[in-house]
Amino acid sequence: MKLSKYKNLNTSLEDEPDGCKNEISQKESWHSTYSNSLKNIEDLSKFIFIPEAEKPALKQVIRTFHMRIPLYYLSLAKNLNNSNDPIRRQCIPSIEEIEREIHEKIDPLGEEKTSPAPCLIHRYPDRALLIVTGRCFMYCRHCTRKRLWRSRIPEPALKDIELALAYVKENKEIREIIVSGGDPLTLPTEKLDYILSLLTNIKNIEVIRIGTRAPVVFPQRIDENLCKVIEKYENLWINTQFNHPDEITAQSILACKMLQRCGIAISNQSVLLKGINDNIKTMLELCHKLQNIRVRPYYLYQCDPVIGAHHFRTSIWRGIDILENMRGHTSGMCIPTFVVDGIDGKGKIPIGPNYVLSVSPEGLTLRNYRNEILFYFNPKE
Ligand SMILES: *Cc1c(COP(=O)(O)O)cnc(C)c1O
Ligand code: SF4
Repeated sequence: MKLSKYKNLNTSLEDEPDGCKNEISQKESWHSTYSNSLKNIEDLSKFIFIPEAEKPALKQVIRTFHMRIPLYYLSLAKNLNNSNDPIRRQCIPSIEEIEREIHEKIDPLGEEKTSPAPCLIHRYPDRALLIVTGRCFMYCRHCTRKRLWRSRIPEPALKDIELALAYVKENKEIREIIVSGGDPLTLPTEKLDYILSLLTNIKNIEVIRIGTRAPVVFPQRIDENLCKVIEKYENLWINTQFNHPDEITAQSILACKMLQRCGIAISNQSVLLKGINDNIKTMLELCHKLQNIRVRPYYLYQCDPVIGAHHFRTSIWRGIDILENMRGHTSGMCIPTFVVDGIDGKGKIPIGPNYVLSVSPEGLTLRNYRNEILFYFNPKE
């Protein structure tokens, strides 16, 4: 079957987590495209060759970790039948996902432990993360929050969200809310608007940030209706996750442009993924393309030790090496901060090349990006 015919494909909602069926907006125009995503192995095998013998194992995988692939995203793969294709690897399940390494956890960042109210993760003093849905346009195979879409957890009810917001109101040191999930843009626009308006009414909240992969995996979601809502909120930021240059297309650029026209500054949080973007050439191309469309590379994450993602993780030295080859060699505007997210809720820890070779009471011996060494006099405090 050709991907260009994807609009006619009729797939069922049977693999969708139970609690997700009721709230999805049937009225909005993006919904029919959303429903046409691939959700089971039979649908998938219309597009890629899957040997019969492998199907039972793959079905087992998606019983644990659901599958949902927007046909738009699948169409970005340059070589769908190559199991190393960077698009294919991010969206198509692999039997490696049911292998478990000793240090892996289902909640590696200890998010459940740092949750003082339903749907709220409060790890840092001045900001908290609000989980408004467990649903995504695409279930990325490397996702850290697999647990949310794994166990058929129902959508958080509005009353849970209100409880979380009551906590935010009481804890006045919280000045920023990260609206996350799942993907918050899977909510009906009206509901998203309602949540944003509740947040805006909290006096201590100065800034709202939405984390969404919609511009990358389902740019159709960024429509006029959504923009009308987005442009109302002047303290709103959007962070997304482009991981590979193949994801930057005319459609994703248009989606970013529409958001930018609403006054939104978009930042990008990539995940370092083995065999996908863990080399300087790919990362430079990605970051240059992002800079060209005014999307600021913000973080590059070490891939978390979540269960079922060992085949995406690579050594931390890889990330450091990529940063070493960027700083000085290209515009500082397109260099992300490489971070390890500390296990068990310890928070993000920036790591990178070391430019301080030694210190003395008088000053520091430093090296620059060309490995030239200099002594830098250190003024007294
Ligand atoms: C990543 C994250 C934040 C935001 O951290 P920044 O460094 O400000 O981007 C806040 N809360 C939680 C729980 C997070 O995981
Ligand atoms: S969009 Fe984000 S939350 Fe959803 S599966 Fe992908 S990485 Fe996970």
